[in-house]
Amino acid sequence: MRRNDFYLPEGIIYLDGNSLGPMPIAAQQRVQQTVVDEWGEMLITGWNKANWFQQPGLLGNRLAPIIGAPENTVIIGDTLSIKVYQALAAALQLQADRSVILTDSGNFPTDLYMAEGLIKTVGRHIELKVVAPEEVKEHLDESVAVMMLTQVDYKTGRLHDMASLTEKAQKVGAISIWDLAHSAGALPIHLEKCKPEFAVGCTYKYLNAGPGAPAFIYVRHDLINKVEPALAGWHGHSAPFAFDAHYTPANSIERMRIGTQPVIQMAALSAALDVWDKISLDDVRAQSIALSELFIAQVEKRCPALKLISPRNSADRGSQVSFGFEHGYAVVQALIANGVIGDFRAPNVMRFGFTPLYIDSADVLTAVDKLEYVLNEGIWKQENFHQRAAVT
Ligand SMILES: *Cc1c(COP(=O)(O)O)cnc(C)c1O
Repeated sequence: MRRNDFYLPEGIIYLDGNSLGPMPIAAQQRVQQTVVDEWGEMLITGWNKANWFQQPGLLGNRLAPIIGAPENTVIIGDTLSIKVYQALAAALQLQADRSVILTDSGNFPTDLYMAEGLIKTVGRHIELKVVAPEEVKEHLDESVAVMMLTQVDYKTGRLHDMASLTEKAQKVGAISIWDLAHSAGALPIHLEKCKPEFAVGCTYKYLNAGPGAPAFIYVRHDLINKVEPALAGWHGHSAPFAFDAHYTPANSIERMRIGTQPVIQMAALSAALDVWDKISLDDVRAQSIALSELFIAQVEKRCPALKLISPRNSADRGSQVSFGFEHGYAVVQALIANGVIGDFRAPNVMRFGFTPLYIDSADVLTAVDKLEYVLNEGIWKQENFHQRAAVT
């Protein structure tokens, strides 16, 4: 759809945009401009002259349509782990008479860790209840303070039904926090329609803003000024440059800011968001399903040793397909050596992301050719493909 907007190394088929999106070509120039013309020439005056201070809000508003959020409800900054903490702390404060955080076993570990860490500091007993993904709905009752879910499972690609789960949560008086890490930029999201209280996500996966790019947080419009920031940083103050000794939060989504943001990485994000201006997420979704279906059909026909782990029904899947294989790590390494980049998650999950922005059906067929070759010829058995690196 937008292949010419991305730099992809010669001879590489990239099926890992679900982990780190490739570089938008415009990002290189934008970052260089920020480094040379802004940081270099303007020095500290760049905070005003180049609008550095306004970037979190400006870029939040540019990201908002991608997740179906209205203006002035999204702010950029920090890491996703921190944004999960912020949302959860705020939600618990709004639910002082309840004590259960409901989540599922498919959630990404850092989301669970942030909850565990936060619970130790809140000064009242909070239970982190982790249930199977398909059992979340039946565990939603009046004891639940917060339902904290990741919409698309990072391992299996399973897609939660945000509309119906949020509706049930609201019926029982629970607050919803949706982590959109594997869905923002992969499929249409309708925050304004589904009305969850909070959503968070990162910008380096399907949004292609580069390694370490800042995260985002959404707070429902009517709650913004009720939310008490647990991480009360000076950039979220109503008057940061008054340098008051006491914290007063801004009367806007700006209160979810904390401290000084990565200005150079914001430049990459700004270039990455330009790509979305001419794209319909319904088209992205339709094409990503077509590519995933093609991949599943071909792999099942030609690589019978692999077992589909993702839901078979495309409506229950995000933009990623996972296959299980005991020696999955080595297969992925052998694939990478043969020009197809996917990734691996312990214990046996091979993940392949299908991002129609820069992947087409010819790429899918070539990728399956390589996968079949690596399996049939036993290429993965070579010893060098078995050595585990720090990042899998
Ligand atoms: C990728 C991902 C993260 C990563 O958090 P960081 O703070 O950006 O490292 C967190 N949660 C989910 C659900 C993810 O998929």
